[in-house]
Amino acid sequence: MQDAPTGLKTFQTYIDGKWVDSVSGKRLLTSDPYTGKPWAEIPECEAADVNNAVEAAYRAFDNGPWARMTQTARGRVLRKIADLIEKNANYLAEIEVRDNGKLISEMSAQLKYLPEWYYYYGGLADKIQGSVVPVDKPDHFTYILREPIGVCGMIIPWNSPLLLTGWKLAPALAAGCTAVIKPSEYTSASLLEFMRLVIEEADLPPGVVNVVTGYGQAAGEPLVTHPKVSKVAFTGGSLTGSRVASLAGQTFKKVSLELGGKSPNIVFDDCIMEDAVSGAISGIFAATGQTCIAGSRLLVQENIHDEFVEKLIDMAKTAKLGNPMSFETQVGPVTTPPQYEKILGYIDIAKGEGANCVLGGGPAGADMGGGKYFVQPTVFTGVDNKMRIAQEEVFGPVLSVIKFKDEDDAAAIANDVMYGLGSGVWTQSIKRATTMAQRIRAGTVWVNTYRAVSFTMPFGGYKSSGLGRENGQDAINEYLQTKSVWISNAPGGGNPFVMKTAADD
Ligand code: NAD
Repeated sequence: MQDAPTGLKTFQTYIDGKWVDSVSGKRLLTSDPYTGKPWAEIPECEAADVNNAVEAAYRAFDNGPWARMTQTARGRVLRKIADLIEKNANYLAEIEVRDNGKLISEMSAQLKYLPEWYYYYGGLADKIQGSVVPVDKPDHFTYILREPIGVCGMIIPWNSPLLLTGWKLAPALAAGCTAVIKPSEYTSASLLEFMRLVIEEADLPPGVVNVVTGYGQAAGEPLVTHPKVSKVAFTGGSLTGSRVASLAGQTFKKVSLELGGKSPNIVFDDCIMEDAVSGAISGIFAATGQTCIAGSRLLVQENIHDEFVEKLIDMAKTAKLGNPMSFETQVGPVTTPPQYEKILGYIDIAKGEGANCVLGGGPAGADMGGGKYFVQPTVFTGVDNKMRIAQEEVFGPVLSVIKFKDEDDAAAIANDVMYGLGSGVWTQSIKRATTMAQRIRAGTVWVNTYRAVSFTMPFGGYKSSGLGRENGQDAINEYLQTKSVWISNAPGGGNPFVMKTAADD
């Protein structure tokens, strides 16, 4: 990274163990969402750069030192990566905030937690084992190998770049794969700093981890379609995910998809109200609502609806907007200008649909502690689940409150969307909690908590929220494939179609 004469930082990207510009020499600007001003220049990679990166990753996978390393040694490399993240966590968190505008309190906590993914999968690296299978043929020895799938293309969104990279990279490296990572065009700087401070320092052989920065169509699509990429791990919007899956399908790549959500956060009348109110608020307003698991539909049982909404608004009103670099700030800016316009557009749509705006409902200027890309924490009541504001992902600080009668009603409303990523249930009844956990069609159900994640717990979506799972032991299977080995000690190889030779007559 260098300071350009323009005052902007200039980054190169990392391919085959070297720092390089894009082949075309083109660069794109990255901006600070708090000030709205560009602060760095990033290489604008295209198909030629992707090809260089994939070829390097293929060489490293096929026959390099990485391919010959024992699984135990690979585990050690992952633990070294974890140590280096720990050492650089504060700095990496600041770069994330500068690029995506999320709160420093959240990003610091996230970066301090991130090493656990690399420790966990580092530990799993030499527990990947095949098996000997008792086959139904006499005099045969048959066994199963579990092998790394190959070069993995990883496509990352802008909301939590290093965390969502870790969810893919840690199991992929533990499996013995190599990687080409394409971060979001809005938030590439933290990944490039991660490569400099962590991957380079961990002494990974050249080509094991590569980065192509650039736009979705120009850099993402060549990665998804490259014949030497065997697996695509994508996190982003459902529309993009659908395109990525269909392109990857053309060359039969393995695909995992972590996509959008419209998660129901369901409050029953027997909840602990203070807990549920703060769970509802942090479920939607933390990260300015820019999280795939945002509890954007708040389902409240009708007999406590009015009291609950009153308490919710009282607490939400106190949310402190401001500079995301301050540990005091509770709601920061929206990350990208198109996202800002989209959120305001949805607020207008909800008003037009007849929902009641009981809090916020527009931009938050400097007089409210906000600035250029700030949206007021917004609450709509009287929302019908058929409205667009209840069906479509807004990805902003906009909450839709929907009344329900009983468990049946709550389950029906919760499931009546195309998504199925997260969900919350607030109740003190174990029967209700377990019944709802069974009935909600979503990859995660939180009971009396919200937005908790762990490296040990599988994460992923039902329906249009995704395919496959990240985190937990099983996630390693996304990066492995199975080989059957047959060894025969039977006469004639046990082959029933032995050709007769002249000597047999
Ligand atoms: P996006 O789909 O616009 O972009 C995601 C990534 O895909 C970016 O790197 C982008 O450059 C790339 N891309 C875009 N078009 C592409 C194409 N044609 N081929 C290949 N790559 C392409 O999403 P976003 O706006 O960056 O992120 C927000 C979305 O991500 C939301 O919908 C959110 O719900 C989702 N998300 C999901 C999870 C999850 O784990 N389920 C986590 C975070 C975010």
